[in-house]
Amino acid sequence: MTYRVQKGVVYLVGAGPGDPGLLSIKAKLILEQADVVIYDNLVNQKVLDWLKPEARSIFVGKSSGQHSIPQDEINALLVKEAQNDVSIVRLKGGDPLVFGRAGEEVDTLDNAGIHYEIVPGITAAIACAAYAGIPLSQRDISSSIIFLTGHENPEKTSLNLDFKEYAKSNATLCIYMGIGQLKRIVGELLEGGLENDTPVAIIENGTYLKQRSCFSTLGHIIEESEAMSIKAPAIIFVGDVVNSRSQYNWFEEKPLFGKKILVPRPRKQAGELSQLLENYGAEILEVPFIEIEEDYHRDTIANVFTDIASYEWIVFTSSNGVDLFFDLLDKAYKDIRSIGLSQIAVVGKATARAVRSHKLKVSLVPETANSNALADALIEYQTLDNVKILLVTGDKNSDLLYKRLQDEGRAIVDRLPLYKNVHTDLSKNENFQRFKTEGADCVLFTSSSTVHNYVAATESLDFKNGLKPKFGSIGVKTSEILRQHNLPIAFESPKANLDNFVVETLSYFRNNKEQIK
Ligand code: SAH
Repeated sequence: MTYRVQKGVVYLVGAGPGDPGLLSIKAKLILEQADVVIYDNLVNQKVLDWLKPEARSIFVGKSSGQHSIPQDEINALLVKEAQNDVSIVRLKGGDPLVFGRAGEEVDTLDNAGIHYEIVPGITAAIACAAYAGIPLSQRDISSSIIFLTGHENPEKTSLNLDFKEYAKSNATLCIYMGIGQLKRIVGELLEGGLENDTPVAIIENGTYLKQRSCFSTLGHIIEESEAMSIKAPAIIFVGDVVNSRSQYNWFEEKPLFGKKILVPRPRKQAGELSQLLENYGAEILEVPFIEIEEDYHRDTIANVFTDIASYEWIVFTSSNGVDLFFDLLDKAYKDIRSIGLSQIAVVGKATARAVRSHKLKVSLVPETANSNALADALIEYQTLDNVKILLVTGDKNSDLLYKRLQDEGRAIVDRLPLYKNVHTDLSKNENFQRFKTEGADCVLFTSSSTVHNYVAATESLDFKNGLKPKFGSIGVKTSEILRQHNLPIAFESPKANLDNFVVETLSYFRNNKEQIK
């Protein structure tokens, strides 16, 4: 599916309740092309990762301790940006037209003669009910559903609706923005005739990996939600259907639900591991302790490329190396055939995938993802005597492979370093700041360099008030480095690959439920 955004048009887009998977395909396509995105608090900022690099994002919500930007200023901003001949997304949590004040924005755009389109989103009531397993309607129990708001708009603190009227409706009540008014809402529903034992559920941060639910009755919901200190954003469901909720709490009972896991890698490399763990319900803090910076000499590139077809093997030790190499090659030759008939060897599966994404076959991937295993595999594969090998690397960790191929294999090895690892300034990294105060259930190390970088950045942390993390290692090599730094290893993957590492992480948490809590 494709969708082409237009300049000068404002797209009022629903961002859904939190889980980025719940935006519509159209919403994602529009976000990917937008020039400007104006968004509020309830939008999960992860969806902003889809923006093109040059897009501007403007936050107009309420940040802690500050008032939100007044609605007329937001309206004026929309008009101003639309006149700049850019495509604008006005991104709102849930559905833009459900308690979202989009109506006022639409009026403004109408009056200013600005074109707009509206893309609906999944509203909190629908999404939270699904993620808590509550059927909003059910034969013989409830055949109507009412969406209500505790405040008429988020800036007002007074209650405008009379909930007594809804007590007699026999409908499932879905109450937005009601937490601050819970006592009055419950009081009025009881006064209106609902029984003390009417089932109630409150879902906080629904569809996020920190979702919590409080199941109770009208008679007890106030004390029980206070005991759990339930806070906004949360939605209240009132009605007998709450008791028909599914036995299996499919979302909150995922095996890693409620676990916070630090993945000490840059976003691009952490992506796959994070995704696998998120599918099992873990909350992932990705922290790029180091970042990759291009670093190469033009002369070296020129020399290597002149003879590129003469190498029998091209060896890649990381997916970063792969991507940079093919970028440079493309700039130089605009033709993939320039590498001739060279065979390709890589250190591990992720690097292999990077090569395959350039439609090239990988001839060799060792069982275990490290330099020694790669050297073993190459030496075993064929005699390397006088064989020309190009080793595409970063600024680190290539010595061992280079020496073994040259000394043991007696190959002719040329090195092509393309990037270096640089330390990141973490003072503004939100995930790292959270890790410093809250800690995490565990840190997953996927290479020796992730251990070194983690240690350098966290030496002074004592986790006095947060969770002291356990350490998981992807394999023997990484464990060696953990031991050198005196970091206790809670679990080690039997094979150094992501799938095995995830399985090991799952079984660690399954076997250690009590100790961790
Ligand atoms: N337009 C939004 C609603 C905005 S009003 C929508 O369609 O969902 C804000 C209220 O929505 C919050 O106070 C809360 O009651 C509800 N809400 C939004 N996101 C939520 C979430 N992830 N979990 C629980 N409630 C949520």
